Amino acid sequence: MFSICEYIWMDGATPTQKLRSKTRILKLKPFDKLNAADFPEWGFDGSSTYQAPGNKSDLVLKPICFVKDSYRGEHHYLVMCEVFNPDGSPHPTNTRAELRKVLDAGAGKEEPWFGVEQEYTLFRNRIPLGWPDKGYPAPQGPFYCGIGADEVFGRELVERHLQCCVSAGIMIFGVNAEVMPGQWEFQIGYRHIEGESADPLTISDHAWLARYFLYRLGEDFKITATLDNKPIKGNWNGAGQHTNFSIKSMRDSKTGKAVIEKSIALLSKKHQEHIEVYGHGLSERLTGLHETCHIDEFKHGVADRGASIRIPLHVSKKGYGYLEDRRPGANADPYQVSARILKTICEIN
Ligand code: ADP
Ligand code: MN
Ligand code: MN
Ligand code: MN
Repeated sequence: MFSICEYIWMDGATPTQKLRSKTRILKLKPFDKLNAADFPEWGFDGSSTYQAPGNKSDLVLKPICFVKDSYRGEHHYLVMCEVFNPDGSPHPTNTRAELRKVLDAGAGKEEPWFGVEQEYTLFRNRIPLGWPDKGYPAPQGPFYCGIGADEVFGRELVERHLQCCVSAGIMIFGVNAEVMPGQWEFQIGYRHIEGESADPLTISDHAWLARYFLYRLGEDFKITATLDNKPIKGNWNGAGQHTNFSIKSMRDSKTGKAVIEKSIALLSKKHQEHIEVYGHGLSERLTGLHETCHIDEFKHGVADRGASIRIPLHVSKKGYGYLEDRRPGANADPYQVSARILKTICEIN
């Protein structure tokens, strides 16, 4: 049985890294016996991806996570890769390597769980989906979690994306239509299913793979998904990537309250360091309006969508659970966001 394998990696584009991929055919073990290490390493031309000069262009792709390619069908795979230099060191664009380091330095022992809320905006011919050719749609209000052809736009793509993610084995939690028409969200991470989550590397891998599916399906629908933080200026919501997180001691009814309070205090001292890796153009979104806290301020609050860190109401009532960091922009890199959060709350330098 031959498998079509799509090797996927992050390029060196600035200010925001994008995905690249290429295809090869492999003969592999059956799925239930297959490991990431069974996919051979491969190479690519780094001079065409902003990752290397032309005279030293060969870079290495190391498969680190795979899911079923439910778009192509059974037995085919999406293969997320890390990029390495020929001497075996991680390439500077390999942000996953930093997250591995933070986990090994002690954060892994704390059993962290993440849940990433990925917002995005759909466009056709440079106009957000559902918007008139000229002018603006009705003001925001009816669109969030809306239903009906006059309120939500692009559900055919969103639905296909959801099905592909579920069938692939991606840890997708759910989807919803967002506040601005043409804007949607999917969440990747902890799902309340059997009380288990995957490690932060896998969650971030899956977040990137879910983005891949969104772009790939968009090609068929002639719809482009953008992760721009503020795709439409003015009185319209931006697109964020709220990142929910917990460590074991936060989820414990005995220690939770104290650990949550301590984590917020630690986060308040590192605000600027977090902002630096939370996505390009963040100041356009973090204005203090549209359910955000101003970029120069750090606030926390129960059920407060104008805070940097929101304590969900049910967490505050129980006294333990998780926190939501509302600052990351839609275009942030989940590897960098989770590494930064863990460094701060686990006090790793
Ligand atoms: P919101 O009300 O902010 O829109 P969502 O329903 O979109 O929230 O997302 C909630 C997120 O919280 C999910 O991504 C889920 O994985 C995450 N989550 C739930 N419980 C935990 C937990 N204990 N630790 C970490 N993340 C969690
Ligand atoms: Mn959400
Ligand atoms: Mn949202
Ligand atoms: Mn949220």
